[in-house]
Amino acid sequence: MVLEGAGLALAACEIQRPEPGPGEILVRIEACAVCRTDLHVVDGELADPKLPLVLGHEVVGTVAALGPGVTRFAPGGRVGVPWLGWSCGQCRFCRSGRENLCDRARFTGYTIDGGYAEFTVADARYCFSLPPSYDSPHAAPLLCAGLIGYRALVAAGDAERLGIYGFGAAAHIVTQVARWQGRRVFAFTRPGDGEAQRFAGDLGAEWASGSDQRPPEPLDAALIFAPVGPLVPAALAATDKGGTVVCAGIHMSPIPSFSYDLLWGERRIRSVANLTRADGDAFFDIAARAPLEVTVETMPLASANDALQRLRTGQVRGAAVLLP
Ligand SMILES: [Zn+2]
Ligand SMILES: [Zn+2]
Repeated sequence: MVLEGAGLALAACEIQRPEPGPGEILVRIEACAVCRTDLHVVDGELADPKLPLVLGHEVVGTVAALGPGVTRFAPGGRVGVPWLGWSCGQCRFCRSGRENLCDRARFTGYTIDGGYAEFTVADARYCFSLPPSYDSPHAAPLLCAGLIGYRALVAAGDAERLGIYGFGAAAHIVTQVARWQGRRVFAFTRPGDGEAQRFAGDLGAEWASGSDQRPPEPLDAALIFAPVGPLVPAALAATDKGGTVVCAGIHMSPIPSFSYDLLWGERRIRSVANLTRADGDAFFDIAARAPLEVTVETMPLASANDALQRLRTGQVRGAAVLLP
């Protein structure tokens, strides 16, 4: 399913099966989850995508062939391909454990082809082995919703009272990790979305309401997964002194101006960008030990446009996953 240009529907095309180059693996795709970032690419909100482009950066499949020099994986083994597809290893960010900020990073399903397809190639150094306790459709959302959601959770520090704004794919996994770690979770959904609020409660949130509501007690940290700028001052207002508001999305509508009072008291606002391989190792270690219930809505690959539309309108419970 190929994106030819911003604003266009994806087109079903026959494309050449890619050949793995040195250090790369050919992956026969079993499942690819749909991320809100995919919508931002389709909508032209992220600059300079590869075009034409195969979207998708939550890819699970089996190794169909090895390029020269690959020893990390064996043919037939299962791998996950995440958003970070390559980093330079030489810039000051790469050299300081921050490859997520690499000046020359390449991203799966954005600047290199991804997983809305039957096959893809990936640099083996950036792929992950996945816990066997998750089948491929349920493992796919772990690759971004879980992994980058986990990076956002780490950015919240040791916050005990955790607010989560936007209860989509990332939130439904992060809530379970946070509960497993012994934190308390307060969920904020689209106002009036009682079904999402019940879903949050089922996953362990002790309170769930619309994002226009204040929590029953102040938060130690808030994670914002919805791409909605006005949630930043709302989350600051809900956060206690010394608390952190983490913006976890790659794109957000403009943040309205707000009174300095909301930031005063050593509150912080920060973003989370991309992932490092160390984040993935830490997260998949947790995913193997914590019994995460990943909720998926599977659809055939050819229904990718429907999946994107359902995500856009807030109809997906958990994560949408495409099956070739
Ligand atoms: Zn993503
Ligand atoms: Zn770099």
